[in-house]
Amino acid sequence: MTLLKPTMPEESLSPRVGHARKLARNLIAELNINQPPILLDDVIKRVRKHHDLSVFPWELGTQTDGIQISGENMSAIGYNQSQHRHRQRFTVAHELGHFLLGHTSKERPLDLESKVPDEVEANQFAAELLMPLALLKSDINGGQKQPKMLAKKYDVSEEAIWWRLLECRLIEKI
Ligand SMILES: [Zn+2]
Repeated sequence: MTLLKPTMPEESLSPRVGHARKLARNLIAELNINQPPILLDDVIKRVRKHHDLSVFPWELGTQTDGIQISGENMSAIGYNQSQHRHRQRFTVAHELGHFLLGHTSKERPLDLESKVPDEVEANQFAAELLMPLALLKSDINGGQKQPKMLAKKYDVSEEAIWWRLLECRLIEKI
C-alpha cells in the first residue's frame, strides 16, 4: 500500500503491541461486541464518527492487498476486490490499524510474520479486532476447540486462526 505521507525511519523503534491491542479492544468495548463474527461495517461506522474515512473495494492487481491514502481532511482505505473475503477482512482491519495508530510509513505486503514495527502493530490490531482474545478464550474454555470451526465462527481464514492461537499461546489448549 502507498501512504502519501513522509517516510519515517520506523525500523529502529520497537512495536507498541500493547497499545495496538488496546485500541482494538476499546473499539470492541465501545460497540458492545460480545459475539463473533466482528462486523467490520459496524467498526468502520464507529471510526467514521471521529474521522473522515472511506473504505471501498479497489482493483489492485494481484500483488497488493490494500492501500491507505491519508490526506489533510480525509482518508481512504482500499482493499483488493479480487481476493477472498477473509483476506479482505484482515486487510481492512490491518489498514484500519495503520490509520488509527497514525502510521506514516510506506506499506509492505501483508505478512503475518513481519518484524517491521508498524506491520507488527497493524497485525496485532487486526488480530485483536477480528479475533478478540477474551472471546476466543471463552470459546476454547467452553469446548469449541476446532480451528476450522473457530475460523468459521470468527469469519477469518484458518491460517489467521492458527496464527492467533499460536501468538496467544492458546494452541496448547486445543
Ligand atoms: Zn501494513
